[in-house]
Amino acid sequence: MAVDLNNYVASIPDYPEKGIIFRDLSPLMADGEAYRQATDRIVQFAKDKNVDMIVGPEARGFIVGCPVAYELGVGFAPARKKGKLPRETVSAQYSLEYGVSELFLHKDAVKPGQRVLVTDDLLATGGTIGATIDLVEQLGGTVVGCAFLIELKDLKGRSKLKGYDVLTLMEY
Ligand code: IMP
Repeated sequence: MAVDLNNYVASIPDYPEKGIIFRDLSPLMADGEAYRQATDRIVQFAKDKNVDMIVGPEARGFIVGCPVAYELGVGFAPARKKGKLPRETVSAQYSLEYGVSELFLHKDAVKPGQRVLVTDDLLATGGTIGATIDLVEQLGGTVVGCAFLIELKDLKGRSKLKGYDVLTLMEY
């Protein structure tokens, strides 16, 4: 029976600052059945896309992407913050509320022409996933889908993903 994934999201008011409701997905990830069902739904979304590779940003993009990669029988490459990847990288910057951040991907993580699914736990403004897509495309990969557990509708991240096939399992 399908579980209601919303029952596995903890909503924390005023975290990390006043006025923000933080959506904590750790209850979902801690529950075997909910985690499996969320993973299965992303696998279904990806199944007919001929995905070669999954790329997700640290850290919760790994938690979402890795079981999907395992199930599809494809590899996973982590997009990481500065100083974490030991070999040659490409990089992409994105805006935060105050300032900028940057993500990196190993240069050989994606081969030209590979079909890539990008994953993260949550789509907010779209900055993080936008940078992840940029990294994949710099390496000549084709982003065939973007999958998230949660979309925060008010932050309009989806508007940065025009032309991409986007799956979100819950909306807030
Ligand atoms: P964006 O770059 O503005 O789309 O923010 C999405 C990124 O910030 C994701 O990598 C999330 O893990 C993280 N994030 C932002 N808000 C939340 C939240 O309420 N809960 C969990 N993660 C969040």
